[in-house]
Amino acid sequence: MAGFLRPGERAPVAFGLSFDSDRGEAGGAAPVYNKNERLALAEQRRRLPIYAHRTELLYLVETHATTVVVGETGSGKTTQLPQYLHEAGWTQGGKLVACTQPRRVAAMTVAARVAEEMGCRLGQEVGYAIRFEDVSTPGVTKIRFCTDGVLLREMMSDPLLLKYSVVMVDEAHERSLATDMLLGLLKKVQRRRPDLRVVISSATIEAEKMARFFDTSNVRRPRAHAELPAEGAAPSRSPALMSVEGRTHSVQVHYLEAPTNDYLTAAVEAAVAIHREDLPGDILIFLTGQDECETVVRLLEDEGRRLQRSKLKWRLKPVALYAGLPAAHQLGVFEPAPRGVRKVVVATNIAETSVTLEGIVYVVDSCFAKQRCYNPLTGLESLLIAPISKASAAQRAGRAGRVRPGHCFRLCTEEDYESKLPATTVPEMQRSDLSGAVLQLKSLGVDNIMTFEWLAPPPAETMIRALETLHALGALDLDARLSRPVGTQVADLPLDPPLARMLLASSELGCTAEVLTVVAMLSVQSVWAPGGKREVDEAKARFSVAEGDLISYLNVWKAWGESGRSKKWAVAHRVMHRSMLRAADIREQLQAHLRRLGLRQGSALEGVSLLDHAEALTTVRKALAAGMFINAAKLTEELAVKLSDQQDMGASVYRLVRSAGGDAAAAKLRIHHSSVLFRCRPQWVLFYAAEQNDSGWYEMRDVLAIESAWLTELAPHMYRLVPLNPQLRR
Ligand code: ADP
Ligand code: MG
Repeated sequence: MAGFLRPGERAPVAFGLSFDSDRGEAGGAAPVYNKNERLALAEQRRRLPIYAHRTELLYLVETHATTVVVGETGSGKTTQLPQYLHEAGWTQGGKLVACTQPRRVAAMTVAARVAEEMGCRLGQEVGYAIRFEDVSTPGVTKIRFCTDGVLLREMMSDPLLLKYSVVMVDEAHERSLATDMLLGLLKKVQRRRPDLRVVISSATIEAEKMARFFDTSNVRRPRAHAELPAEGAAPSRSPALMSVEGRTHSVQVHYLEAPTNDYLTAAVEAAVAIHREDLPGDILIFLTGQDECETVVRLLEDEGRRLQRSKLKWRLKPVALYAGLPAAHQLGVFEPAPRGVRKVVVATNIAETSVTLEGIVYVVDSCFAKQRCYNPLTGLESLLIAPISKASAAQRAGRAGRVRPGHCFRLCTEEDYESKLPATTVPEMQRSDLSGAVLQLKSLGVDNIMTFEWLAPPPAETMIRALETLHALGALDLDARLSRPVGTQVADLPLDPPLARMLLASSELGCTAEVLTVVAMLSVQSVWAPGGKREVDEAKARFSVAEGDLISYLNVWKAWGESGRSKKWAVAHRVMHRSMLRAADIREQLQAHLRRLGLRQGSALEGVSLLDHAEALTTVRKALAAGMFINAAKLTEELAVKLSDQQDMGASVYRLVRSAGGDAAAAKLRIHHSSVLFRCRPQWVLFYAAEQNDSGWYEMRDVLAIESAWLTELAPHMYRLVPLNPQLRR
């Protein structure tokens, strides 16, 4: 892990800071943060910075095919622009305004806020759609917030997005994979649909690039489609660039005087130091993941209890904020703190731009985030804690200046900040597996992926790898065209290609009932209720089978079903009831998809006698293997060396079977401790996901034990029996 100080070195948290400059401004009296909070919603809307630009914005959208809007977080882009467009008539004639978000949480919370402002029920005039969850009403919904991925998928049935008059791509600077794809596709759609308006909201650093990308004023337009408006009525093809000045105050940045190797403790100490100054204002702490957030919340709760005896004006109230947070817990995060309470929001980088938090005056920034990386040579991903970019750090600091001049405390030295943080973040598209993306583009008719107009091109190796994977799955033919029916069906299912492939195989093998369950359970956040490792392990043990995690899921599903889907049962067995309900919902939707595709459905295990059970289960395992055979690993005789104080001893080392040479052969894997096969030593396994983490190992999750013969049987094009291959012998 990258650190600003070598492990073991310990330095006290010390910012050379003084709060004195604040005292004058605060004037001792508690200022009211949400000064608009008590106003009627209409009045609150009029007070947003973007309101002064309403007329101009509407004029620009009217006269330009593309408008790029730049503005500080909180200026009103996300909540107001779609409403302005609606009020100005862009939703007349049955058309909708779409607003895409890279994050599901953002799509949901923003839609709820806008519905409130418009005085309608969520899902009526204002709705949202995330994968497997559509809260909108055809014919009624005018403004639709959705994830960028959902809009991409919609293009498969409505390639020109005819349903929409305006598509607003929000948070475009985040450069999520789906946003990058969407931008390229929207540019193509604009050529066929001069009437479509694209609005892009972006942070300053990316805005010029976006505007240049959408500038087609020099490109000759293909002959207009007969049904579309005449050329004369078409808007300008040079994008308009507009900037909404924020309502931000200055933010003073502080650095550590000496580096720290423990940013969790440093964050807690910083928050307590701020709190002890007894000045008003909420605190926002940026960490890298859910576990860290929960840990720091607990530490701060302890500190809060300890501080209760001191005569401070405010009481500490720490709350966590991360993507997988249950909706019920999120409320506490967004609600303004009551009088006498100082909220400390402990968040992942979800709080960087996409959600609105009121009342923050202090930001404590670990300067780290979890970053996903992809190695096209091994086909394996890693999720490592890495320093954030300076652009991200600036965004994070900006969150402190919303209500009055604020402070940002970076938990690193200024020197390290300058020398170790990159200027900008690498777009997700350049560090992800692209097989799903390539398949989607192919099914949208983008046959030559290499000539597709990207904002930034993907690495060639990743592209090749994606094509290889899709070909191995049978989704592409030898000419790299979508195969029929497998390729089109895999693309049609709203799933990762391997999961989609499993479902197709299960239809052929007559075990859709079982594979649907597995796929649905793989699509939810977590099946197990959070808790101590020991308790969770014990809970899992009741359902564990030697065939691995995926088959164990079947047992959980069956037992939950037999309990009458009882919440009491779930609680007693440490199973997350909410996840199970969601899995049930996803399962039903996927079942409907299969029906629509005209695929045969059946069960391998239902009504099967005990004698035939093993054989029936083999059928299910083979269907699962048909989607995962690329990720095959073989046990070696090596033992993982002890790497940390956790019980690492004894975990066996696996090697990737797919020997693409160098990197792939060298990648060492082991079974993740969350797997039911941890501590078991199956000879051959398939895994749904393996991720390199900060221990340096690739850890396999959702593991399925198989027989080696299946590999050559299922994928003769990939695996041959090579008895003397030294790599396999070891
Ligand atoms: P932007 O997209 O420019 O960052 P938003 O449109 O998200 O800004 O937010 C504009 C304003 O609306 C915020 O400053 C805040 O006052 C208010 N707001 C947004 N979301 C919520 C919410 N969930 N609850 C309360 N107020 C909100
Ligand atoms: Mg926004």
